[in-house]
Amino acid sequence: MTGSLESPGVLVVGAGPTGLTAAMELSRLGVAVRIVDRAPEPSPTSRALGVQARTLELLRVRGVGDELLRAGNRASATTLYARGRRLAALHFDRMASDFNFILLLAQSETERLLAEQLATQGVKVERGVEVVGLQQGPGDVQVRLRTTHGDQETVTAAYVIAADGAHSPIRKALGLPFEGRSMTHNYVLGDVHLVGGVPEDQLSIFLAPNGFLAVFPMGDGRFRFMATDPDGLAGEAPEPDLTAIQRLYDRVAPIRAELYELNWSSRFRINSRHMTTLRSGRVFFGGDAAHVHSPAGGQGMNAGIQDMINLAWKLAMVLDGRAHEHLLDTYETDRLPVITQLVRMTERATTLFNSTNPVAHAALTALAPRLLGRSAVQDKAVPRLGQLAATYRNAPLAAGGGRTGSLRAGDRVPDSEVTTVAGEHRRLYDLLDLSRLTLLTATGDAPEQYLNIVAVQHVSAGVDGWWLVRPDGYLAAAGRAGDQRTMTRWLDRWFIPRSAATG
Ligand SMILES: Cc1cc2nc3c(=O)[nH]c(=O)nc-3n(C[C@H](O)[C@H](O)[C@H](O)COP(=O)(O)OP(=O)(O)OC[C@H]3O[C@@H](n4cnc5c(N)ncnc54)[C@H](O)[C@@H]3O)c2cc1C
Repeated sequence: MTGSLESPGVLVVGAGPTGLTAAMELSRLGVAVRIVDRAPEPSPTSRALGVQARTLELLRVRGVGDELLRAGNRASATTLYARGRRLAALHFDRMASDFNFILLLAQSETERLLAEQLATQGVKVERGVEVVGLQQGPGDVQVRLRTTHGDQETVTAAYVIAADGAHSPIRKALGLPFEGRSMTHNYVLGDVHLVGGVPEDQLSIFLAPNGFLAVFPMGDGRFRFMATDPDGLAGEAPEPDLTAIQRLYDRVAPIRAELYELNWSSRFRINSRHMTTLRSGRVFFGGDAAHVHSPAGGQGMNAGIQDMINLAWKLAMVLDGRAHEHLLDTYETDRLPVITQLVRMTERATTLFNSTNPVAHAALTALAPRLLGRSAVQDKAVPRLGQLAATYRNAPLAAGGGRTGSLRAGDRVPDSEVTTVAGEHRRLYDLLDLSRLTLLTATGDAPEQYLNIVAVQHVSAGVDGWWLVRPDGYLAAAGRAGDQRTMTRWLDRWFIPRSAATG
């Protein structure tokens, strides 16, 4: 059988958090999209728990944030313990975001909420459908699909998003490198109930000379347990049982607690790898297919979601002829430096926390209180964890975009309060048009020829001069009142003016 997407369309491969976000964004933007996953059912396991502030900022305005907030448990700090006492804490409530906490929610729930939003936008995940072949032509991609019943179909898509996970069959089929290493440590994971003095509004990390243990509160007395596996068993070993997990807990944690009702457990080894390109012709890679790293800091799933929020608006604007094709190259130039830094950061944190070298352990436990006692360290570390500090300011898409105060083109625009000319106080993100750029301006307008690409919001306070904001909430360009040249030059580089687009 041969099928095609309503042309031109995008085929999303994989319905984990990355693929679901891609399909949700593309369908919201009016792109014809199909999303397939070879697994017949969604995974019921909790896996990635942490939903970071930046992800919440982006998902709230896309209709999913409120549900996530209702379902998840909020933690306002990470507390480190060692040598039988509390050492120091990282305070998320210092983050300059409405979401100044880490939200803990089972990945299966996050996926369910994304899939529900996708369904309200008219797209259903096609399950039990596997990509078994892919061929790129000059103007499209032919993708071979096979269902669990053995039916075959060839789909023609303008672009493919490979969100097919860490073992990405598409990445392998295209022979693309996945550079990095397997780290030597093995971990034990489990979701368990716990009674004792472990706080339910914080992440608790217990450091020991022979590894570490962390417990993350999921609400209602349930905790994610994660610890260095002292037996160093690989993924093939049997799943740890409650007795083994209690033993690990008692060995490291100074707070007495009784663990019960273990409802999921696993062992795993960390890989720390990323692709060196996120695009191969008409195929884009994101999420675990493009980068895998230690779960330290709960960054992975969030990075995948943000990959897709970066890519989707660019694809939509190129597909409907409003942007030049080379805008698509900026997905990689924006995201790859952020990914590379993330992989490095999580690798360093993992090495530090797992050190079995007594000197390194002594240094860590002595230095942690001193370092985390400094506000400058907190102010640097906490926004990084919340993924608020990631910036695209050195990427080509930010070039020539100028700045406003300390905010430079490519930086995240904080969701601050602005006053409209009607005198209303509004959240800046509520004024954004998520399908095109938004010009927030105290004076002046968008260039006439770009009114199909730029929505205009007149504001009287909260913005100096004008700010041009991308649909993903990053600053495209900014300038003083009357400086339209910066805006027009920046737009000319990436977008197709209305007169040219309509001929
Ligand atoms: C046991 C475990 C524990 C974890 N714990 C944490 C944690 O504590 N913190 C953290 O941040 N992260 C954790 N992770 C990682 C986290 O789950 C991933 O970062 C996240 O799932 C990545 O999302 P994704 O959508 O990119 O890929 P995935 O969720 O892997 O989704 C890829 C999808 O593609 C589908 N697929 C693959 N090949 C094909 C094909 N050929 N055709 C069609 N479909 C295909 C798969 O069925 C799968 O559903 C954990 C992972 C595991 C396995």
